[in-house]
Amino acid sequence: MTPASLPAVRLLGIPVHLVTPEETLQRMEAFVEDGRPHHVVTVNPEFIMAARCNAEFHRVLNAAHLALPDGIGVVWACRLMGYPLRQRVTGVDTVQAVARLAARRGWSLFLLGAAPGVAEQAAEVLRQANPGLCIAGTYAGSPAPAEEDHIVGMIRAASPHFLFVAYGAPQQDLWIARNLARLGVPVAMGVGGTFDFLAGRARRAPAWMQRAGLEWLYRLIQEPRRWRRMLALPRFALCVLWEHGIRRRNR
Ligand code: UDP
Repeated sequence: MTPASLPAVRLLGIPVHLVTPEETLQRMEAFVEDGRPHHVVTVNPEFIMAARCNAEFHRVLNAAHLALPDGIGVVWACRLMGYPLRQRVTGVDTVQAVARLAARRGWSLFLLGAAPGVAEQAAEVLRQANPGLCIAGTYAGSPAPAEEDHIVGMIRAASPHFLFVAYGAPQQDLWIARNLARLGVPVAMGVGGTFDFLAGRARRAPAWMQRAGLEWLYRLIQEPRRWRRMLALPRFALCVLWEHGIRRRNR
């Protein structure tokens, strides 16, 4: 499969690839074999709404090599528009699948971001689940520009195949876009709260809630301070319904 052959759609101007978890992994494998730098983003309604008032984030999301359909809101919007997307592809599931792939292929991971100690804990969990997995490095650091050269130097020296960055959106993806060309890694991906989940600092919703598309509700109950950010969800739904209505009228 060539990059051009991946089906993509646009939700409110932001591209989303209509991929399954299996296709995502095939693409990751192809990116490493290709060797050139690739940026993977996990698009959810918060990303899309943030990009509407952040031109740089909008540009970065449009330039990403792979835009995973994260967030049940993205799946809902695709279905409403009649796009063939069956399921979400989440950051945490993708990181775990990439760790399995990396262990099998002898490839290495670098975990950047989250609170001090969390990336190390997450790395240990991945290592235990995947004996032989090579973790090229872990570092908390911060997305502050003053730290950038130091962090880039550290990653270049470690020379991983996959770099996962957990600075939250949009900082993590802006950080990757600013540094991708000089990092020397084939795949860099923003992963949000993934290390917190892997390290057990945050709990994922039970499987039935994930299946019912209620993971966002579970996260809101666990972290009520997220309520303001989550207002993006109803705003996103209204914008999508509006765009859908306009399209139908123009048909
Ligand atoms: N984070 C960080 N430095 C920052 C901002 C955030 O290390 O300056 C980390 C934070 O500790 C968390 C991760 O970024 O581990 C993602 O946070 P959030 O829950 O906001 O991400 P989401 O999953 O909602 O994208």
